[in-house]
Amino acid sequence: MENQRTLYNDLESILYTKEQLKEAVQQLGERITRDYKGRKPVMVCILKGASLFFSDLIREIDLPLTIDFMVVSSYGASTVSSGEVRLIKDLDRSILGKDVIVVEDIVDTGMTLNYLKKLLISRGASSLRIAALLDKPARRTVPLSVDYTCFEIPDAFVVGYGLDYDEVYRNLPEVGILSPSVYQAKTE
Ligand code: 5GP
Repeated sequence: MENQRTLYNDLESILYTKEQLKEAVQQLGERITRDYKGRKPVMVCILKGASLFFSDLIREIDLPLTIDFMVVSSYGASTVSSGEVRLIKDLDRSILGKDVIVVEDIVDTGMTLNYLKKLLISRGASSLRIAALLDKPARRTVPLSVDYTCFEIPDAFVVGYGLDYDEVYRNLPEVGILSPSVYQAKTE
């Protein structure tokens, strides 16, 4: 029955389990700790999608880092990018002369991070790198290199571990492919 469906029933498949995510995030944290030894990076979380990844990742980094948050426009109730990037919440503090690591949930067309990268460099960050949990390189429409990523994934719409569809599924502890029937039903 409709009202007895759990989040898992809407998934076509699970791509990464809790354990796989934990291990990948741990390894990435260790890598960033090594790469930024002796520095104090500013970790910038792109809300809301990166929130779970971000909070796990920063706890795996053994450095005197600081954190800040940005909100940019998302897809809303759609699985296709509108191509427009809108800044909804800006950083609280200046990044002038700072080593910045932007933490994003997923890189798809690359438009969001391309925009953010230019913006943050123009504000005088002394270095800027991107850490994304997931990368969909096949979907890239603008050239963008991702410095740190946990997994490269195929061209499918995924949810869970912070990633949503129409604001739902963020609390799934796994990352899974959303059944197309969920969003097809909405657009019909
Ligand atoms: P881009 O600007 O690279 O096209 O898109 C980046 C943003 O689109 C991500 O931060 C994320 O919010 C959203 N996005 C792209 N692909 C997916 C996906 O497969 N699932 C979800 N939930 N969001 C996605």
